[in-house]
Amino acid sequence: MRSTGFFKEIYDEISTGVLVIGTGGAGLRVAMEASDNDSNVLVACKGKFTKTGSTFFPLVDGWGLQFLKEEKNGNTRDYFLKEILEVGKGMVQPDLAKVLIEKTPERVHDLEGMGIKFNKINGEFYDFLCCFAKIKRPAAAALDLENIQNTFKKEIEKRKVKVMENFNVVKIIVKEIGRKKKVGGAIDVDKNGNLVLIKSKAVVFACGGGSIIFKHNLNSPELTGDGYGLALDAGASLINMEYIQYIYGILAPKKIHFSEKVFVYNPPILNINKKTFIEKYIPKNLSIGKIIKKRIEHGPFTSRLISKYYDFGIFSEIRNGRGTKNQAIYVDLKDLPKYINNIEKEFHGAIKWYEWLGKKGIKIQKELIEIALCAHANNGGIYVDVNTMSEVDGLFACGEVMGGPHGADRQGGNMMAANPGLWKDSRQKCCFIL
Ligand SMILES: Cc1cc2nc3c(=O)[nH]c(=O)nc-3n(C[C@H](O)[C@H](O)[C@H](O)COP(=O)(O)OP(=O)(O)OC[C@H]3O[C@@H](n4cnc5c(N)ncnc54)[C@H](O)[C@@H]3O)c2cc1C
Repeated sequence: MRSTGFFKEIYDEISTGVLVIGTGGAGLRVAMEASDNDSNVLVACKGKFTKTGSTFFPLVDGWGLQFLKEEKNGNTRDYFLKEILEVGKGMVQPDLAKVLIEKTPERVHDLEGMGIKFNKINGEFYDFLCCFAKIKRPAAAALDLENIQNTFKKEIEKRKVKVMENFNVVKIIVKEIGRKKKVGGAIDVDKNGNLVLIKSKAVVFACGGGSIIFKHNLNSPELTGDGYGLALDAGASLINMEYIQYIYGILAPKKIHFSEKVFVYNPPILNINKKTFIEKYIPKNLSIGKIIKKRIEHGPFTSRLISKYYDFGIFSEIRNGRGTKNQAIYVDLKDLPKYINNIEKEFHGAIKWYEWLGKKGIKIQKELIEIALCAHANNGGIYVDVNTMSEVDGLFACGEVMGGPHGADRQGGNMMAANPGLWKDSRQKCCFIL
């Protein structure tokens, strides 16, 4: 044991070229790239490898991303960027968004090559209108969690990357060289509660978001926002932290993801007294039909569109004391089986969600479900340059913990597309990869 200032008792010491904090899609892609470029790399995670974080979150039926491989009929990269900037309300770093657009098609290709199974129609990616997008783009939806877990595991094992499970990073070591700050490693708490010093030339934050701080959330318990605090403490900055996404989640009979697409047939939304209420919150100049038409186009809440009146109605009813004891409202989906094929025609994957719900033991034909808006992703995060380096030399961020490519609202599928990490060992810089 030896003393390192604030942390008095260091139990063990490890040296590595690159320390990656987090084993979600972002951290694992960085680890693969670092390893492929001959860096000695170590990845650490809270909990169990391929069981922690949003990438492997079991309460959702998978994730998807939009990508643009070929430009045609006005569906161009420039237009894609214009949309991202528009929904981001001036809060996006355009250089980061541009890299995201350019690199995502290659990354989808890589993922498929590794073995990730994407949902396709007749063997082809299909066009899909992602949340907050104005035009459809090809969507890559991965809906088989076991396949996602096994694929990442195989790639990491193949490269013999060292994975430290149950390893909580609690401090970043920073050296001051003149007026510059340079990263020197990190301190972790291992599964036995011992402090371990990891000396490292570069540290990559890939530790996801922090929605767990909200009462209603759809996140795994490890996502307590550690990266934000650690980065600030190390001398880095944060941006856009006020922009958090909230989507509907089922809170009872058990916590699980909900699909807003089912609002399309206007199912009964009921308060604690089993009375409908939504119509009374709709402004006189608008109809419920018009509002629902907009609301089914996006999962997360937004205050930019008229769909907000649906969410305001639900939230107001709960706030006015007529929510359930879980601070939610009831939805009656008993008639959903009658409509599901029609919904599938417009929203591919709706049937898969419905079947998945059944497999998870939710019997919508027999019982009411309780839903509420749940925090699930942070649009802001650690401020980085176009190489994803923070203001501290050698300290990088990627994936959800990184801020910049997303602003006030984020288009659907762009978070997985921002899981970066092409390691350039000569210059010790990271850039996007997926
Ligand atoms: C319900 C739901 C649906 C979603 N749907 C989509 C979608 O369809 N499209 C899309 O683009 N995005 C979607 N997202 C967002 C997307 O899934 C996440 O942003 C993305 O998976 C984050 O990946 P990541 O690798 O950055 O972090 P995560 O996958 O969250 O991994 C974080 C890692 O950091 C580790 N960690 C945290 N703190 C520490 C610490 N102190 N020390 C060590 N390790 C630590 C955790 O253990 C974990 O391994 C969704 C999210 C949710 C919750």
